[in-house]
Amino acid sequence: METQAEFVDTYLDAATVANRIAEIGAQITALGCGNQPLVVVCVLKGSVMFFADLARQLNLPTNLVFLGVSSYSGSTESSGAVRLTHDLTLDIRDRDVLIVEDIVDTGLTMSYLLDILRARGPNSLRVCTLLHKPARKRVDVPLDYVGFTIDDVFVVGYGLDFDERYRNLPFIGTLRFGPN
Ligand code: 5GP
Repeated sequence: METQAEFVDTYLDAATVANRIAEIGAQITALGCGNQPLVVVCVLKGSVMFFADLARQLNLPTNLVFLGVSSYSGSTESSGAVRLTHDLTLDIRDRDVLIVEDIVDTGLTMSYLLDILRARGPNSLRVCTLLHKPARKRVDVPLDYVGFTIDDVFVVGYGLDFDERYRNLPFIGTLRFGPN
């Protein structure tokens, strides 16, 4: 089988992403938190860069925690099947929780996350996603903060992968396959 070359074209450059994250960070900060620190949930692995940058824009007490879910493996299509690969190490009952996700595409992953976290009795549950791809929506999920609404394109970089590659790119790009 012939392998095709892959190309990454810049879609959102690093400065554009950083500016938007500063705006969202200010919005979240302005709402403040209750008596206890805001629980900020990093959804591994895709949101790791966004989470790290957003967390540094939050000027309020936080607890930073990690949750692992399976995503697409070696494909640019959602399988629809979601699996928990790493659970939180903190009890979120009665806590104010912010889920930080890289991208909401069909919405299936976020819907699953909201179901399992809601069942744990948090005081509040908000969702912050860097990217939203409404063209492929299959379920409605409430999104409190959206960095960018994007076209129906497959993006990589800034935490997002294709077959576990490209996560370390400092910008968000689109993946193109071709002979050259
Ligand atoms: P959903 O369940 O909303 O269809 O997809 C959520 C997950 O699929 C994301 O957390 C991400 O891991 C993956 N995903 C969806 N769209 C893209 C995309 O354009 N690029 C990459 N790299 N991953 C995506």
